[in-house]
Amino acid sequence: MQSLGRHIIVEFYNCSPEKINNVSHIEQSMLKAAELAGATIINSTFHHFSPFGVSGVIVIEESHLAIHTWPEYQFASIDLFTCGELVNPWISFDHLKNEFEAEHSSSIELQRGQPHLLKKITLDKPDVRDQASKTDRQITYQRSIWFTERDDNIALSLRHTGDILYYKQSEYQKVEIIDSLAYGKTLILDGMIMTTEKDEYVYHEMITHIPSLVHPKLEKVLIIGGGDGGAARELLKHDTIQQIDLVEIDACVIEASKQFLPGIASSFSDPKVNTIVDDGIAFINNCESEQYDLIIVDSTDPVGPAEGLFTKTFYQQVHRCLTPNGIMVTQSESPTFNTHVFQEIQQCYKQIFGNNNVHPYLAYIPTYPSGMWSFSFCSKNSLHPIHDLDKQKAMAFTKQHPCKYYTADIHQAAFVLPQFVQNLINTKKKMKNILSN
Ligand code: SAM
Repeated sequence: MQSLGRHIIVEFYNCSPEKINNVSHIEQSMLKAAELAGATIINSTFHHFSPFGVSGVIVIEESHLAIHTWPEYQFASIDLFTCGELVNPWISFDHLKNEFEAEHSSSIELQRGQPHLLKKITLDKPDVRDQASKTDRQITYQRSIWFTERDDNIALSLRHTGDILYYKQSEYQKVEIIDSLAYGKTLILDGMIMTTEKDEYVYHEMITHIPSLVHPKLEKVLIIGGGDGGAARELLKHDTIQQIDLVEIDACVIEASKQFLPGIASSFSDPKVNTIVDDGIAFINNCESEQYDLIIVDSTDPVGPAEGLFTKTFYQQVHRCLTPNGIMVTQSESPTFNTHVFQEIQQCYKQIFGNNNVHPYLAYIPTYPSGMWSFSFCSKNSLHPIHDLDKQKAMAFTKQHPCKYYTADIHQAAFVLPQFVQNLINTKKKMKNILSN
């Protein structure tokens, strides 16, 4: 008697890094490989991880095919495990080698379940057989594809439709859009979730309405980053605003957002919005002094193109470009997820705007690491986010423009910080990171 199963362990080398980092391509190739080998597919699950790599398995009636990829090493390791005479796993091998453009490979076939070591027992228990026979033979193929954002200790996975709607490696970052089942279309930059259709309102309402409803006469606003268009969309609800300059470094982000996130990117067609594709650091350095009533730094995390946006020099330039009564609001990272950066940012702002003019506030964004995110309200001339809030004006605003997160009460509550966050802010920290520049 033949062994129960054939297990081919495959290592593919010098593969196309793009191909073995593209979850849809891998899924389709693996499904085809199973089909060509004559297997009956039952279900499949694939995960693509940030920043690189895909893992997946296809369960077939005749056992399974599994894959793990390391695009950064152009390497893919595959298990082709089949049983029965009808399926030839080597057909799958040939197909996948082509699909992943592997320059060379190594493989070994193991016979699994050596007959001389096996003793068949009669499992003739009626219920077992009946159970099996009861299950309808009609196999409905179940498919699941997951995107996982992770760092060493924390991960968030979103199941999605499997198709990567937008994928471009721009000069600055990898720009992707997927359609997640729980949060709708999702913008991902370098493997980090930036904005989703279902929870973007939290971020965009809180980074815009808090300063806009405090500033006495807001006319000219600068957004650094914000290439999804969400912050500009919310700002346009404030009638006093005459001009919004949006300075986004990556044209691909704007392109992807206009194409797949029209509800967020609606602002780009408004004549008040001036879209400038440029590095925010260069823009602010060349900007004349006292130009803007409000400067919103709606940037990615302090890595890659945004690293320079988390420096003392940059914030000093922002301060210079604010009008005397100006306000800067930034996304200032998470006190729970990137505690050190959060702490150092607060210290840096106080050095530039003064101890009493820096007011961090919190909001809860389900698809951001740990869910707790902070913003920082920094005023050039002691405008206070609570004392200078005209609550009636805020309530009238939300009556006219119904919000999903922002209310006049949330405005005040957001500045009430949990004890551990207050402790973080009051603990003097040696500014070692980029913020000391
Ligand atoms: N809500 C998101 C967050 O909290 O992470 C931010 C969203 S918004 C899409 C961030 C934008 O900042 C990105 O489109 C990115 O390209 C842009 N960006 C990063 N560095 C930049 C720079 N130096 N100048 C201008 N825009 C920049």
